[in-house]
Amino acid sequence: MLPVVALVGRPNVGKSTLFNRLTRTRDALVADFPGLTRDRKYGQATHAEHNFIVVDTGGIDGTEEGIEVEMAEQSLLAIDEADIVLFLVDAREGLTASDYAIAEHLRKLNKTTFIVANKVDGIDGDSTTAEFYNLAMGEVHQIAAAHGRGVSLLLDQALMPV
Ligand code: GDP
Ligand code: MG
Repeated sequence: MLPVVALVGRPNVGKSTLFNRLTRTRDALVADFPGLTRDRKYGQATHAEHNFIVVDTGGIDGTEEGIEVEMAEQSLLAIDEADIVLFLVDAREGLTASDYAIAEHLRKLNKTTFIVANKVDGIDGDSTTAEFYNLAMGEVHQIAAAHGRGVSLLLDQALMPV
């Protein structure tokens, strides 16, 4: 069985952009509209001779209502079947209440989780991502999914045990 890596985070943090980079497809919908990817979306990826499955999710924000409840359920299912969770946050928007809510969910699920601060292109990554240490989930990995910066280094660490 290939390891399964789930991309989790509130809408618009860049999950689908990272999915597309990892799988080198444009299959996952990327949009400026939060929450467009309504379902789980699977792809295959390779890093340093490790093959793995990537799962894109619609995003959860911890305060769902209506249709969003179903999207959140899909995300929780994706987390459940994953070996590794990449919890994406937005370095430009900073730490939000939703990020805290998601962190609480993830803590209960007891999965190997990496905090990934996306969109550090063109900004001071160290100072803008420092606040994500308040999530108390370990090291904050800086990436720019749209450009690829930091992605390889992240995968080196995330896939190391598998
Ligand atoms: P999702 O809702 O989490 O799947 O987020 P998307 O992948 O759809 O991206 C949301 C928005 O963030 C889009 O406008 C992307 O172009 C933008 N975005 C994604 N990654 C980056 C990045 O590394 N840098 C910047 N500046 N924007 C990004
Ligand atoms: Mg998406």
